[in-house]
Amino acid sequence: MSTATLLKKPSQHCSTNRAADSCPLCQQVSVPQFEKHGIWIRECAGCGHRFAISDAPNQHVEQVYGDDYFFSGGAGYDDYLSEAELLVPHGRRYGRLLKRHGAGSSLLDVGAAAGLILQGLVEEGFKGCGVEPNGTMARFAQAELRLDVTAVAFEDFEPDTQFDIVTVIQVMGHFIDPVAAVEKLYRLVRPGGLYLVETWDAGSWPARPLGSNWHEYSPPSVLQWFSRDSLKQLFERCKFEEVATGRPQKWINASHVCSLIDHKLPQTAWADVVRSGLACMPASLNLPYPSDDLFWTLFRRN
Ligand SMILES: [Zn+2]
Repeated sequence: MSTATLLKKPSQHCSTNRAADSCPLCQQVSVPQFEKHGIWIRECAGCGHRFAISDAPNQHVEQVYGDDYFFSGGAGYDDYLSEAELLVPHGRRYGRLLKRHGAGSSLLDVGAAAGLILQGLVEEGFKGCGVEPNGTMARFAQAELRLDVTAVAFEDFEPDTQFDIVTVIQVMGHFIDPVAAVEKLYRLVRPGGLYLVETWDAGSWPARPLGSNWHEYSPPSVLQWFSRDSLKQLFERCKFEEVATGRPQKWINASHVCSLIDHKLPQTAWADVVRSGLACMPASLNLPYPSDDLFWTLFRRN
């Protein structure tokens, strides 16, 4: 999609537009840091949270998470479905993690996409359903995997039940209003229930030295960049407590790596080195992701 409608010019004088430029976590003023894809990454002067502002919040989900996001490369996937053999086991690993914490059986996967991670969770015995804004992805989950995935944006999803567990795998960074999202999650999880989040760590050692070249700075598909601490503070403020945290085992296929490098690191010398190396490998080859800038945290609702 074009980023033109989401372009946000920086303002050093936050008092003139304080509400629009204030931190989505703590509401303090923010300062623009650098520009990516025509959109400014801002940093909160109070808590240090980094974020970008969507100029089209009401159209954000439909504009950004259309079929192109899942099938046309760029900031998304060159072919999301081609990673089924990686994503289903990823779900199974998280299923085993949840079972170790005695989580119950009813589960909602937020941002379920084609249901591949949800499929892994179901294979581990959970009674799972999902919510996904992209209709093509949701229909694949329904028709091909026989999963209960509702095609609607999370913000508009109003189930008539609470769940033992909610999983949000690489979704937190996509929310325009993360506080509202977590407050809604609180209502969807029963008291004592669990919430599993996997997201990128902007405070990690790969992210900090890379600065603006860190691959996850990819607005508008990503708008929030958490650290472990800022994520924990957000959830604790919304009456969750941290139960456990760790780094996931993650795999990615060579074709997806090439697609991401072309979009996110097109002009760096070391990206050319990686690209040259990958050119010698089959596109379907699965590669381990180092994971030092990716983490999961398990929270319990009080
Ligand atoms: Zn803040």
